[in-house]
Amino acid sequence: MLRNDRSLMRLIKWTAAVAATAIAVGVPGGYLLANHARERGELVGEIEVKASQVSQIISGNPDFWSFEGLRIRALIADLDKPKDPALHRVLDEDGQVVAQSPQQEPAFSWPVMTEERALFSYGVPAGKLIVTHSLRSVYENALALSVFSFILGALAYWALRVVPLRLLNNAWMRISYLANHDHLTGLPNRMVFRERLEQALQDASGSGKLVCVLALDLDRFKDVNDTLGHAAGDLILKRAADRIMECLRPVDTLARLGGDEFNIIRIGDADPAKVAELAERIVEALDRPFRVEESDIVIGVSIGIAMGGRPETCDAGEVLKNADLALYKSKRSGRATYHFYREEMNREMSARKSLESDLRKALVKGEFELHYQPQIRLQGQRITGAEALLRWHHPKRGNVSPAEFIPVAEATGIIRPLSEWVLKVACRDALAWSPLVVAVNLSPALFQNVDIEAMVSRALSESGLPAERLELEITEDVLMSDTANALAVLEKLKALGVQIAMDDFGTGYSSLSYLRQFPFDKIKIDRSFIGDIGTHEGAQAIVQAIIRMGHALKMRVNAEGVETIEQANVLFGEGCEEAQGYLYARPMPKRDIETLFQATRVLDAAAGEASQLAVRSA
Ligand code: C2E
Ligand code: MG
Ligand code: MG
Repeated sequence: MLRNDRSLMRLIKWTAAVAATAIAVGVPGGYLLANHARERGELVGEIEVKASQVSQIISGNPDFWSFEGLRIRALIADLDKPKDPALHRVLDEDGQVVAQSPQQEPAFSWPVMTEERALFSYGVPAGKLIVTHSLRSVYENALALSVFSFILGALAYWALRVVPLRLLNNAWMRISYLANHDHLTGLPNRMVFRERLEQALQDASGSGKLVCVLALDLDRFKDVNDTLGHAAGDLILKRAADRIMECLRPVDTLARLGGDEFNIIRIGDADPAKVAELAERIVEALDRPFRVEESDIVIGVSIGIAMGGRPETCDAGEVLKNADLALYKSKRSGRATYHFYREEMNREMSARKSLESDLRKALVKGEFELHYQPQIRLQGQRITGAEALLRWHHPKRGNVSPAEFIPVAEATGIIRPLSEWVLKVACRDALAWSPLVVAVNLSPALFQNVDIEAMVSRALSESGLPAERLELEITEDVLMSDTANALAVLEKLKALGVQIAMDDFGTGYSSLSYLRQFPFDKIKIDRSFIGDIGTHEGAQAIVQAIIRMGHALKMRVNAEGVETIEQANVLFGEGCEEAQGYLYARPMPKRDIETLFQATRVLDAAAGEASQLAVRSA
């Protein structure tokens, strides 16, 4: 590219120089040559004619020089060309001038053109005729023309060299700007960022200064882009870039790497506290709402920080990888925060990578199992159903918690075959438990591009489980991103006849509006509220409010994570229908829960018989 640019420039310069020279020299030169040729032609024609005329006059008269002098002089007087005279000289055989036209110097000053012809008397040489013609006017004209053509040449040079070079230069500047900058925010792009980082690290390795890289990722940008559209998304990106810029010094580099990713290079701050201060300022700046289309939108940013330069690494790739690892840590620990890179993060990441690869094989190797936790109707303390909870028995790590592997499954797409397996097994297991209900958790990731309706109806038809005995638990996250699509999917599921429960209620963002939009069959109060009953003031009031609201919306209420009899009593007192928790039973394998169901059935039957006996004896 660069070589092409240079040869194009050289071509333009040469073309301009050649064209300008051609005009400046070629025009007067051409004029001069053409006129020279014309003048000579005329002179030759004239001297031929006159030489033969003089020869005629002198032929036949041996004393011609004395007698014919007048005629000869009249012939060469050149009276017909007073403005453009020629000097004619007739010389005798001895070279003596015998006749001459009247013109004299300075009319014949340089430059002149001379032609001579021999004169004959009866074929015998008798002298010669010399005609001298001044070219002064031709040269004067050529000189005047050369001034004009020099100006013309200079103009041509300007038009052919200066203008195209300037245009070319502007085009190159534009192309290189576009190639190096992000078109939306005008910030340097990934390529420039990388170059500057490499340069900064190279300088730092000599000077001992530290180079700090902050990797930024906007937290809820994707949701905004999906719901409000790309125009709003673009606006937010521009404003976010402005806000970040306001936190920086002019010497810092802020680049947009693409999407909602920004990176910063800061040179010279060796004190982590100062860098932390900067990160805090940026987090605060992006935590303030953005006003878009009449509504306030909170985006937030997560930041990962890594140091480069001595004594840290001077490899740009490694510094960037470290900053990304720290960013990942910030994302996982609740967003709108920052983390510095630590050595352990590498280990955590490789552990996650190996978890990922093990997870891919686990389904085929049959390492998954469903455990079931009973759900109890508080009125009468009867089991109404059980929640299916996934367990992974890893051959080396032992039991891995779903809280650890479900996010990995979601991020890698394994969630799809895994959910299909859970649904099938849960429906098949529950078939024998009539009339109890089985609850299955659905990941929000499934709502993005999986046909859940088909997946659920396949599980129902293959197992033969009546739809009303399947309950699907979703969390508020499902309704957070593409609400319209999520509601449509929920309607379709509802149409199949299954029940829908809102899981972990109270932990999301705006629970209330979603409850109005979809008729959930059940709300499950998150166990954090239940655990706080009796220890945190206000927890009971929140639980009471959720129960009342659920009832007002004609939804049953389940309390998750009930561990003490006191909690159960409070919940019962508040009118909560259902509970689930270690107080009653921990999640257990299929065999155990079936034994439990059997035992409760026997107990129920015995209780029924006892009450009948009591009635009879009464
Ligand atoms: P969840 O759906 O809210 O499930 C309830 C969690 O609370 C379960 O944790 C359960 O073991 C635990 N739990 C039940 N009673 C008590 C109690 O009294 N005290 C305490 N401290 N905990 C209790 P688990 O099995 O570790 O599951 C965690 C989460 O993983 C689940 O939360 C659910 O969101 C997810 N999960 C589990 N299985 C699946 C699955 O098959 N698919 C999907 N997508 N997610 C699943
Ligand atoms: Mg659940
Ligand atoms: Mg829950």
